[in-house]
Amino acid sequence: MQYFKPVYFDEFSCVAGACPDTCCAGWQIMIDEESLEKYGEVQGRFGSRLRNSIDWMEGCFYQYERRCAVLNEENLCDLYSELGSEALCDTCRLYPRHVEEYEGVREWSLSLSCPIAAKMLLSWQGEVPLIEWETPEEEDLDDFEDFDIMLYTQLVEARKLCFERLWEDNSSIESYMEMCLSLAKEMQLCLEEGEYFRLEEIIEVYREKDWSECTCETAYEDKVALFEEIYGLERLREEWNDVLAEVRETLYDKGEAHYRLLWQEFAEYISTEKTAGDLLRNCKKQLLFFFMYTYFCGGVYDDWIYSKMALSIESVRFLQELFLARWMRNGKVLTPADYVELSYRYAREIEHSDLNLNELEEYFIKKVVDN
Ligand code: SF4
Repeated sequence: MQYFKPVYFDEFSCVAGACPDTCCAGWQIMIDEESLEKYGEVQGRFGSRLRNSIDWMEGCFYQYERRCAVLNEENLCDLYSELGSEALCDTCRLYPRHVEEYEGVREWSLSLSCPIAAKMLLSWQGEVPLIEWETPEEEDLDDFEDFDIMLYTQLVEARKLCFERLWEDNSSIESYMEMCLSLAKEMQLCLEEGEYFRLEEIIEVYREKDWSECTCETAYEDKVALFEEIYGLERLREEWNDVLAEVRETLYDKGEAHYRLLWQEFAEYISTEKTAGDLLRNCKKQLLFFFMYTYFCGGVYDDWIYSKMALSIESVRFLQELFLARWMRNGKVLTPADYVELSYRYAREIEHSDLNLNELEEYFIKKVVDN
């Protein structure tokens, strides 16, 4: 088996009670079979409390006021304190470590929704090396019976090209993002037309292109439409309402002319304050890397290549809107802590709701298929 992980992966360590948030609130925490069995056998008073904290029909912990039933008032997990780390279910033991599975390959990442992981991810400077290793372990090939290895190989190639271009410093990020979308769109159309054999050729054409030339700009209406789409999604945390309200009031309530003025001012700030400009640029690149690394190759399972790329690019574009609104609210300053907070809050809402992920992907795929 071949494994990959970003270079900072092993440095993660949970800060538990010192965490500015907690991963045990707002999400339904599913419990694996083996842990359920163990929890059913725990003796004594804690055993009874534990059993009463589990929804046995659904196989998950109950939530009280959107907090996990075994989370105490100090934001510490009572299951961990009473029974030790070995007793945690797979979800809690692994989070924020995340694995994407492909035939013969496992790609590990840290989830952006954890504030500490988000800080590690966004404070990394420049290219993120991927550590690769192999083990002799065999996997059950029945699990990958329908796996399309040809498509997967092309997706890996396309993603590799996007990474190479990402770390080159000579193109504007806007131009870069348009090129990524354009590449994914062409690949998607190939699949729609059943022309799988052309995928390799398309990637080669993009390899020869100048990625800094694209001058397209996202229309104001498209930005508002994306905001409304995200506004209409399932909400997992109270705090997200405040973030969205901040964006609507600051950016969109006064119309397009006002919005453009704000962006102009922000662009001036970024170009004159070198440190602020470098910080934003690095932050956007790290986010692009994170989203593409995590999502793009998943297109092998549903043939939705374009929506996976759009999810990556539009997430970064949407986060830019959050950054601008926060900059205004802060009195025209943005700190690294703002980037971390807004990024992890966004990831909590989008990445941890299958409903939200699916709805966003449908929104993006509809755009390209309808056009
Ligand atoms: S969100 Fe991250 S740092 Fe906070 S408690 Fe969960 S794993 Fe630990």
